Order: sequence, then C-alpha cells, then structure tokens
Amino acid sequence: MAIRKTDAIVLKTMPFRSSSLIVTLFSRDYGKIRGLAKGVRLERETRGALYELCTRLEVVYYEKTRSDLHLLTEGFLEESYEPMRTQLESIAYASYFCELVDETTEVHDAHPQLFELLDFAFRYLSSIPAERVARLFEIKLLREIGWLPYLDNCVQCSQGGLESGYFSARQGALICPKCAGGFPDARPLQREALAAMRYYAGHELEDCLRHGMGSQTEAELKVFMGRFFAERLLRPLKSKQFIEKIKPVMAK
Ligand SMILES: [Zn+2]
Repeated sequence: MAIRKTDAIVLKTMPFRSSSLIVTLFSRDYGKIRGLAKGVRLERETRGALYELCTRLEVVYYEKTRSDLHLLTEGFLEESYEPMRTQLESIAYASYFCELVDETTEVHDAHPQLFELLDFAFRYLSSIPAERVARLFEIKLLREIGWLPYLDNCVQCSQGGLESGYFSARQGALICPKCAGGFPDARPLQREALAAMRYYAGHELEDCLRHGMGSQTEAELKVFMGRFFAERLLRPLKSKQFIEKIKPVMAK
C-alpha cells in the first residue's frame, strides 16, 4: 500500500456503518478518489467537519491496490469557502458542480485543471451571479474532459466562418442553416450565444468572468447547456433539480 498526499475537494459523502464515512474527493494530483474515513462520524466537531461537502483539504491516504476504496488517514482543512456557504443558492450551485464532476469523471483520471476549476467556482460563487459561474463551469468542464461541443465549422458540411447557425444537442455540434433540416433536434443558435461559448472555451477563467453578456444570451446558453447535458448524462442530476425547485423561492 502506497501512502499518498494531495489537495482535494469533497464531492460526496456517504455514511458507512455507524461511525465512518465513505468520501468521494476530487484531488489535484490523482483525479477522483474514494476513501474510507474511519470513526469520523463520532468526532463530528473536529475530524467529521473536515469532510463537509465542497471543502478543500489536504488528505493523506493509503492507496489500496485491489480496491478503489482507499483508507483516509489524515485531513487538514485548507479552505471551507465560508462566504459561499452563507447563501442557499450558492450552496446549491456548488453541489451541482460537485455532482457534475462526479458524474463525468472516472476514478484515478487526473485532471488538475478540474480541481482548479472547482476551487475557482467556489471562490466566485459568493460574488458573481451563480448562473454565469455555472455556464463557465460547464463549458470549462466539457473542454477538460473532451466533451466540448464542436463549434468551429458545420459538423455536416464543414462550412466555416459561421457566426450563428443551429445547435444540435444530440450531435454536440454547430450546424449551418443549409444542413439544419437534417437534424430534427437542432435549434437556432444566435450570434452572441455562439460567440460566448467560443470565448468561454478559449480564454482564461478570470477573463471569462469579465466578459459580459446580455441576459437573453445567458438564458439561451442555459437552455443549450441543459439540453446538451441531458443528452450526455445517464440520469438527471439531483442538485440540478434542487436548483430549479428553489428558483421561485430565491426570486422572491
Ligand atoms: Zn452545413
């Protein structure tokens, strides 16, 4: 058994027997890992609090060779993102980001950029509108895991230079007006929404946050991303459903 040490963010926890937790973490160095934290539920105030959802910590674990469930031996709190935790809406979106990463990654598939993306999103959720952070998160996640929709040319006829067109969630691609008839699920994609998706895909996180877009474009992107994930994910995400449920309450 090798001893590993890495920074990690808590994606999910599950009680195990009466006193322990099975923790799913996204680590900076080893990607998603699952570990057993023995006895922590008996120390709720101290060690137990470490494994709160969306917390960033440094963990030490024994890597099991015959199982994906490792043994978490130590954890040191690095960041609990307190400002984000003061608003129900931010917590709901942070949970959505965790669930999205959990659903779209395999264990031991290292993506340091995804670790940074989670950290970035949690830090900005308290000060930037959550929907904007969410679109940026989704597009950066897709790029990192290789699922980014194809937006360069028409996927059917390769026509380039398109500044608007149609988007097929099933194909995960841009379609030109001439080919759109062959894709029943294709919906018009306006110039601003396409430009925003391209900008988000190709620029640094900080620059993207400064890149303004109108509320109509934001709403359009939300619909496209929702359709796209619905095509790709095996099941609807609970956290996403929760966000929709609290929306009317938050708007009051
Ligand atoms: Zn075409």
